[in-house]
Amino acid sequence: MSKQAFIPLSVPCIEGNAWKYVKECLDTGWVSSAGKYVEIFEQKICGYTKAKYAVAVSNGTVGLYISLKLSGVEPGDEVLVPTLTFIAPVNAIRYLGAEPVFMDCDDFMNLDPVNMAEFVQSGCRLTKRGLINKKTGRRVKAILPVHIFGNPCDMQAIMGLARKYGLKVIEDATESLGSSYTSGVYENKFTGTIGDLGVYSFNGNKIVTTGSGGMIVTNDKSIAEKAKYLTTQAKDDAIRYVHNEVGYNFRLTNLLAALGVAQIEKLPGYIKIKKANYLEYKKRLAGIKGVTLLGTPAGTSPNYWFYSIIIDKDAYGADRERLMAKLESSGIQTRPIWFLNHLQKPYSKNQAFKIEKATWFWERVLNVPCSSGLTKRQVAYVAAKIKSSN
Ligand SMILES: *Cc1c(COP(=O)(O)O)cnc(C)c1O
Repeated sequence: MSKQAFIPLSVPCIEGNAWKYVKECLDTGWVSSAGKYVEIFEQKICGYTKAKYAVAVSNGTVGLYISLKLSGVEPGDEVLVPTLTFIAPVNAIRYLGAEPVFMDCDDFMNLDPVNMAEFVQSGCRLTKRGLINKKTGRRVKAILPVHIFGNPCDMQAIMGLARKYGLKVIEDATESLGSSYTSGVYENKFTGTIGDLGVYSFNGNKIVTTGSGGMIVTNDKSIAEKAKYLTTQAKDDAIRYVHNEVGYNFRLTNLLAALGVAQIEKLPGYIKIKKANYLEYKKRLAGIKGVTLLGTPAGTSPNYWFYSIIIDKDAYGADRERLMAKLESSGIQTRPIWFLNHLQKPYSKNQAFKIEKATWFWERVLNVPCSSGLTKRQVAYVAAKIKSSN
């Protein structure tokens, strides 16, 4: 095969009205915290996801932090979170002085509700103070499911458990903008809009990007108002500078929101491309022994943000590290899945409940190129190199 240019794991796709909207900000001087684009971007997110309220923030991590805070998570509380996730939601829990309790994952690498139900039923007791972890004596306040790589979590089971035990639910939908359910009680609902609060991210590698940015969504008006208030310096009198609470500067600028508006116009097209490329990978990887493309949960319509392949080193004839190195030398960037959070230094003393599947995936998963600008020819090239790298 002819020599190809470097194929990165995931890079932004900037097109459409991006230049027009950003130029308008530059030309008019409305580049900072005032201007029309923040509100337009929030409305576009509401329009697309059918969330009632959206509050733009400077990144997904602070969006999660504020969402946890607005859910009543206090210092010393515990939050149930998957060990297999990017570390940001785990850190957001710690920023509040609360502690993560790590849960296992299911066959789609999402928070496993069966494992979590077992933890709640066997490891906790319901009291007047709320759900108490028997081992630590701490109050379990919330669940933080993460829709990994765009695959929707089993929210029906998660919400059922949360309601039964009085837990708040903050959805980390940072990777799953545009993912939805096609059957069940949440049919036609988008990830991020089912729990008490949901958070999207517009980091450079996400399906829609503003360079850096995020959005909190909720169906509760008072929570949305409080989120806006806290993330914009908690102004009680904007002219006389009166602040009745400790606020934060977590705003998204007009300049970045303008880029976001142009990007969200392209979201349906990006999902189409990502799905087509997913199916192309599936077709081309099908015959390779020891290589499996991660599936998608039944009854969902994912955004196909990332593509994970699972390497069975005995069947394939090489392990993941070797495959990654070989692909790198062919100009193909890939990455193993995140190191498990219950083993990360800041969290190694935290409780982790029966982690099995997450360890299995962690040893085997490699993510392959998935940008929205990826062509079918590039997918074919990557698949061919995977086939010949054992
Ligand atoms: C990207 C990401 C975040 C954080 O978003 P930022 O906008 O980069 O702060 C949080 N959780 C997960 C799972 C992510 O992938």
